Amino acid sequence: MNSNRRHFLKLGSLAATAWGFPKAISAATTPPHVLVIGGGFGGATVAKYLKMWGGNIDVTLVDRAASHYACILSNLVVTGALSMDRIKLKYDSLRSKRGVNVVQGEALAVDPSAKEVTVKVNGTSYAYSYDKLVLAPGIEFIAPPGNYNDQLTPHAWKAGPQTLLLKNQLSSMTKGQTFVMTIPKAPYRCPPGPYERACSVADYLLRKKSGARIVVLDANASIQAEPVNFGNAFNGVYKDVLTYVPNASITEVDSQARSITTSAGKFAGAVLNIIPNQRAGQIITTAGLANDLTGRWSTVDPLSYASTAQPDIHILGDSQATGQPKSGHMANSQAKVCADAIIRAFNGEQPDPNPVTSSACYSPITSKTAAWLTASFQYDPATKTMKRVDASFAEAPKPSGDALEEMYKWANNIFADSFA
Ligand SMILES: Cc1cc2nc3c(=O)[nH]c(=O)nc-3n(C[C@H](O)[C@H](O)[C@H](O)COP(=O)(O)OP(=O)(O)OC[C@H]3O[C@@H](n4cnc5c(N)ncnc54)[C@H](O)[C@@H]3O)c2cc1C
Repeated sequence: MNSNRRHFLKLGSLAATAWGFPKAISAATTPPHVLVIGGGFGGATVAKYLKMWGGNIDVTLVDRAASHYACILSNLVVTGALSMDRIKLKYDSLRSKRGVNVVQGEALAVDPSAKEVTVKVNGTSYAYSYDKLVLAPGIEFIAPPGNYNDQLTPHAWKAGPQTLLLKNQLSSMTKGQTFVMTIPKAPYRCPPGPYERACSVADYLLRKKSGARIVVLDANASIQAEPVNFGNAFNGVYKDVLTYVPNASITEVDSQARSITTSAGKFAGAVLNIIPNQRAGQIITTAGLANDLTGRWSTVDPLSYASTAQPDIHILGDSQATGQPKSGHMANSQAKVCADAIIRAFNGEQPDPNPVTSSACYSPITSKTAAWLTASFQYDPATKTMKRVDASFAEAPKPSGDALEEMYKWANNIFADSFA
């Protein structure tokens, strides 16, 4: 194990516990109510830890869906290596074991002065009140120019029906056809994820569809994560089937024709997998909380994930703009810092002044190997930002079978720590 990885594991194990656990809220007081919108990695984790650490606290978790499909491992569903059931995460444990009130509904609007959220449940709108609100709605897409239609040219960047749509399109390809995919301009959900998809699809085409090819159109100037391992794979094992095109921003999409015009030329394929540019989940924009310089993400205080615009509204996971990577592991880590800070605030205390967060991503490179990327972040009081701990930042020295096995164990752990 190299020293960066040891450092990462050491820091990761400290996350949210260095300051000690928060004091549970006294049973003698009226329980405060925390409303959480979005039951993905950020929302499920914050709901669980608020109940685990908070004692006398009511937590309601609202999600559009009856269960969550993890994006983590979903590229392997696209290639048929895993089933949808492997990435299906139910809310049963949060309900029965943790005592979270889980509601299937859609949050439509936030009223910070009344401390209420309008939630549509089974076609009827209700006002849900809160003492503290947590928004963890993930991402929304910015539609590219043209007649873009995600039913014809799927993104599969939110797991669920889109994952199956892309899987079916890939498996219908015939030998000799082309799979074209786009990579959005950073920042976007899961920095290594698109390159991981490119490798998984290239591996599938090599094994199952001889003569078929993949073209990867990257809106960025270069590979955004794990450049050594992905670069070696693109130029090595996949050199005969994969063409990587940097600086390819989309200027027009024709979903009907499955063709795309970019700043690097015009391309067409039997499958066109467009992963559009991204912004914070829609409810954040609707609530006027997408307040960073780009107007796409939310600025927050990384000591508590409280919005810089509304101190009783906390925003975490992919929607926040702290500069930390948009990953499920990171959303889980931020959620623990946030739960800790909310409980302390109910007790009249200050948040932990020195939080640490961490993230790991495992990427299959071939059907038999994977690589990984790790990073930890520590609060810097001088700049009031989360700074990457350079000694923790590393990518796997090379893809390996051991890392592939580790990937499944890591995924099981992060699934259980967030949802069970
Ligand atoms: C292909 C791929 C591979 C990935 N691999 C990894 C990996 O190896 N490691 C890793 O750490 N991360 C990985 N990620 C990234 C990870 O999936 C995301 O970063 C993570 O899901 C973000 O968590 P979140 O809580 O912010 O959002 P999500 O997990 O997307 O959860 C948001 C939830 O909010 C709900 N919601 C949104 N709006 C509303 C509303 N108005 N009302 C009700 N509910 C609402 C949605 O239904 C959803 O369930 C990967 C992503 C992709 C696409």
